[in-house]
Amino acid sequence: MHGTSILEEADRLMTVCNSCRYCEGLCAVFPAMEMRRSFSDGDLNYLANLCHACGACYTDCQFSPPHEYDVNVPQTLAIARADSYAAYAWPGAFSGLFARNGLAISLIAAASMAAFIFGFAAFNDRQVLLGVHTGPGAFYALMPHNAMAALFGAAFLYAIIALVMSVRAFWRDIGEPIGMKADPGSLWQAMKDTTQLRYLDGGGVGCVNEDERPSDRRKIYHHFTFYGFALCFAATCVATLYHYLIAREAPYPWWDLPVVLGTLGGIGLLIGPAGLLAERWKRDPVLVDAKRTGMDVAFIAMLFLTSLTGIALLLWRDSAAMGPLLALHLGVVFSLFITMPYGKFVHGIYRFVALVRYARERRMLGLGD
Ligand code: SF4
Ligand code: SF4
Repeated sequence: MHGTSILEEADRLMTVCNSCRYCEGLCAVFPAMEMRRSFSDGDLNYLANLCHACGACYTDCQFSPPHEYDVNVPQTLAIARADSYAAYAWPGAFSGLFARNGLAISLIAAASMAAFIFGFAAFNDRQVLLGVHTGPGAFYALMPHNAMAALFGAAFLYAIIALVMSVRAFWRDIGEPIGMKADPGSLWQAMKDTTQLRYLDGGGVGCVNEDERPSDRRKIYHHFTFYGFALCFAATCVATLYHYLIAREAPYPWWDLPVVLGTLGGIGLLIGPAGLLAERWKRDPVLVDAKRTGMDVAFIAMLFLTSLTGIALLLWRDSAAMGPLLALHLGVVFSLFITMPYGKFVHGIYRFVALVRYARERRMLGLGD
């Protein structure tokens, strides 16, 4: 007996697939499945998070509908995966709320924080809000650096704690004892598989999306999004080091490292999320968890808005629009932080953890990478 009906269905499908094994070369899910004769809830959540939703095993399957076996692995694992985000989320109550109203909650949180910063500035000095501020420290005319750092540091810390708690629960449930450290070889293998999106390629031919013709579009847009996010994060880290180590205050000139990294990352975060949204819109409904569209779209949309408002701020930072644009950008970033542990962001973390476990299993059995 499993905890939910979707895990019952996943168990049924994995049992059928374990007899068939036709798809074993497509991704990591099938080899991991073959290491098991029976499946606990944790095993099924592990397999669900190993799946990269390429859709190949649906189009390749001779038992997919209308066959009476009704085998639809991508959709079943997509639903189980989304359920697992809710099951492991910390605190759990927030997750159900976000799954139903993800985009609305993200937008309301962004607008509320932007309005708060706007009000904070207007309360202190109305002239500051719509004035022209240039040179080092110009952003802190709107809100002192310490207040900004405290606000965003608290939001970031909250997101990290919530993510650590949820990943800890996932790690334990998929069969790894708490305190068990992953060996460096498995971590390295999982990092390579994650950064190359090794299993988002339908076994080498590409993902299927709106029809049965495979393509690399989803993989390319994922890469733009992942590396765009990484570059923006790097830009924030460099700016923080500038501020605290060498007392250089934002905004920085166009040629300076935080701006170069942030601009390149911002371009990635415009192209990647826009492409992913377009692919999501066209995707064959038979492959997706239609009930979680709001949660999926919320994270992609907030990444896009983070980049859009950041680039707008860069372009108009020397004008009177700087104050409102900065308030808007900070509002979107704040919303992105606090909703991260409950939205699609976690899929990257859980997938990485599942890949670490997969690499460990293969090493323990003496199998290759
Ligand atoms: S998805 Fe279909 S073809 Fe692939 S292993 Fe399972 S039953 Fe076999
Ligand atoms: S959808 Fe792709 S990644 Fe997921 S189980 Fe099927 S072949 Fe593997």
